[in-house]
Amino acid sequence: MKRILVTGGAGFIGSHLCTRLVNEGNEVICLDNFFTGSKKNILHLLDCHNFEVARHDVIQPYYAEVDEIYNLACPASPVKYQIDPIQTIKTSVMGAINMLGLAQRLKAKVLQTSTSEVYGDPFVHPQPEDYWGNVNPVGYRSCYDEGKRCAETLFMDYHRQNNVRIKIIRIFNTYGPRMLPHDGRVVSNFIIQALNNEDITIYGDGTQTRSFQYVDDLIEAMIRMMATEDSFTGPVNIGNPREFTILQLAEKVINCVGSKSKIVFKPLPHDDPKQRKPDITLAKEKLNWEPTVLLDQGLPKMVEYFKEFVL
Ligand code: NAD
Ligand code: UDP
Repeated sequence: MKRILVTGGAGFIGSHLCTRLVNEGNEVICLDNFFTGSKKNILHLLDCHNFEVARHDVIQPYYAEVDEIYNLACPASPVKYQIDPIQTIKTSVMGAINMLGLAQRLKAKVLQTSTSEVYGDPFVHPQPEDYWGNVNPVGYRSCYDEGKRCAETLFMDYHRQNNVRIKIIRIFNTYGPRMLPHDGRVVSNFIIQALNNEDITIYGDGTQTRSFQYVDDLIEAMIRMMATEDSFTGPVNIGNPREFTILQLAEKVINCVGSKSKIVFKPLPHDDPKQRKPDITLAKEKLNWEPTVLLDQGLPKMVEYFKEFVL
């Protein structure tokens, strides 16, 4: 069994990852500053002998003896990461430096959760890993996009210069239970609005696209990526290649909930990418992985989870 550090472990994805790793018998440390994470997400793990929580900010160095590090600490919702953009970019950049330094000292493997946002508003569609992207360096999303791009650079340079054992995955839009109901991301927003029979707020005309991955598929890919041989660093895209317009998503959510909600249109946020869909050829080849959960299967699970928040 391994000793594993999960930064951002009390967040949406981190809590699912911690659960899987604890259930497999590993010793897991969940490090989190609880900015967007919550104790409720990890409540079911608190009594496990092989799980512990460290309240800590990855901007500060952290020391623990571990074999593997999954670096997830960073708010992922555009609404949340723009509340304190300086903290957001520090989290990505200084968090990466601190976790890479720790991995180097311990000769541990470290996996970075990068993002499809490194492709920005892409000119190439679908996006393969060798596309360098189209990112605004001075916009409202830059604290997140450029922070994640710089973190990728740091990972590659620590690997090339210091032989650190790194893995980089680029995660595309992921949804599922334990997302914060009011964190501003589209799937959670639409489901809460539909359950309350409130207007469904589409930003722009709803023709922009995203490809939605259910969280269980992502966790499987993360475990497989960590287990690959050291020579494979990534970056590798992890996402569901089925692409939907935001308007299609709104209609699916209304049908799934059986809601009386009406669709309304609101202004598009700054630098909102027009299209996004992963090319997952590399993940299929290197991880023998592809997503298995359809949007029509994942949405009802999330609706069930969110029902308790609207009563
Ligand atoms: P989340 O906001 O639910 O979780 C992030 C966690 O990191 C939270 O628990 C938060 O409290 C913690 N955190 C934030 N800043 C921190 C800091 N300075 N020190 C310690 N902890 C800190 O988001 P998520 O959806 O679970 O995303 C997890 C990771 O996956 C993020 O790095 C995100 O960029 C990446 N990602 C997510 C998606 C997605 O669709 N969910 C897509 C691409 C990439
Ligand atoms: N969006 C929307 N209504 C909402 C929330 C989001 O139309 O209530 C749109 C948003 O403008 C974007 C897409 O849905 O085009 C995905 O937004 P999200 O914040 O979930 O993720 P990201 O933009 O980072 O992919």
